[in-house]
Amino acid sequence: TDGQLVDFRDAIGDIPLTADPGIVRRRSRDFFWYSPILNQQLAGKTADLLVTPRDEADVIRVAAACARFGIPLTPRGAGTGNYGQAVPLAGGVLLDLSEMTKIEWHKPGVVRVEPGSVMADLDAALQPQGWELRMHPSTKRKATIGGFIAGGSGGVGSIGYGGLREPGNILAARIVTLENEPRVLELRGDAAQKINRAYGTTGIITSLEPPLAPAWPWIEMIVAFESFGEAMAFGYDAALADGIVKKLLSPIAWPLPSFFGEMRDACPEGQAVLIAMVAAPSLESFKALLGHRGAITLERQSSDRAGQVPLYEYTWNHTTLQMLKTDRGVTYLQCLFPHDDLLAKVAAMTNRFPGEIHGHCEFIRFGGRVTASALPVLHYTTPERLDEIIAIHEAGGVMVANPHVVTLEDGSRHKRADADQLGFKREVDPKGLLNPGKMRSFIPVSATPQG
Ligand code: FAD
Repeated sequence: TDGQLVDFRDAIGDIPLTADPGIVRRRSRDFFWYSPILNQQLAGKTADLLVTPRDEADVIRVAAACARFGIPLTPRGAGTGNYGQAVPLAGGVLLDLSEMTKIEWHKPGVVRVEPGSVMADLDAALQPQGWELRMHPSTKRKATIGGFIAGGSGGVGSIGYGGLREPGNILAARIVTLENEPRVLELRGDAAQKINRAYGTTGIITSLEPPLAPAWPWIEMIVAFESFGEAMAFGYDAALADGIVKKLLSPIAWPLPSFFGEMRDACPEGQAVLIAMVAAPSLESFKALLGHRGAITLERQSSDRAGQVPLYEYTWNHTTLQMLKTDRGVTYLQCLFPHDDLLAKVAAMTNRFPGEIHGHCEFIRFGGRVTASALPVLHYTTPERLDEIIAIHEAGGVMVANPHVVTLEDGSRHKRADADQLGFKREVDPKGLLNPGKMRSFIPVSATPQG
């Protein structure tokens, strides 16, 4: 209520905040509009206040005030999530962590950072010392490290290191709980998984310890192939070639490259492409493996800041975005193919929906094996047809994390909340004020018969 919000504002003192409805409404959005279903469902959802903490002490003060006055709190990084993760469903406070960008310390192979650092800035600070993040989403130039770990799954670099869920990819996290007297908890090792892709429902992250990878000079390339099958087959060979250091291998079927704007000239009419990032010392071996199977149409040093759009911004969910820029009638799926008989299974699924689905994969490691994550672009007709397409994939052994739903259970491959995360939420957010509506299995203590 208005009274609660007045009390809240009094309690948080000089912490920067705005109640300007235009600003708050704009910031209450993310990229959920990729989904025609979420686009309807989340229209008009907004917070009441946008609060921008400067440090952990501010976060503690805001958390205490929200707990005391019963106000929902939704954390936000850069708002580039795809499923409305950072959209407040129940109003209240939108907590913008993007001002908390300090690097606390850095050692060889590991960094300790506040959650609001934009990943490209982080790499820019680390690379001169020979290190960089092991993986980043294709939104690296905008997205925060906190938003990635709380809302993402993997990306450029996952061909070498797997996704965020692989043991060792998040060393530690510190969180603030949502209680009258908030606690600050350090979660190390396995315990850090409690905040991984929990959409900010299990604590406000104030510090993170991601492990790092050696920073290579990366060469980015577009390689053209006669067919998607050939791009997949070569991509798979390159993925399996452990001696070739690479960060990205994305086969993309025609007509998707016809939507690649500035890169259109490097994408021959009617052909599939493979977008690759290979370490400079591995380039010769990559080319030897390629032979005459495909033609390199673009080759250059990769950079986040050379005034050029990095090629990774044509991969992962940017592939979908490139087509959405001219055709709002498309959307996408998020699939994980089984590692056995991979090429045949991708071909079977792609051939099953001619004209309706355009193939697009990223090779990744998953549980130590090379497989393909896929974000196929599809022409949307009805919710029923979308469900049918998902069911056909699942029946074919393909795991689908549905990107057209708002809860973390429905959006997971297993359709349930991680037991650890659900139990942990009871400890750190007993009133269910953190991003309410996103973890549907959670029932606040006050709503249970005992409560
Ligand atoms: P936000 O969208 O602001 O937040 C994401 C979630 O994290 C929200 O639930 C929010 O509440 C929570 N959160 C944010 N900060 C904190 C905090 N400090 N404490 C607790 N919770 C917090 N994702 C991938 O994994 N891989 C990809 O390759 C990829 N490609 C994409 C391409 C495009 C074009 C788009 C639009 C999205 C893509 N995404 C991808 C999704 C998204 O961009 C990433 O997951 C990104 O890292 C999210 O970061 P963010 O700062 O924008 O987070």
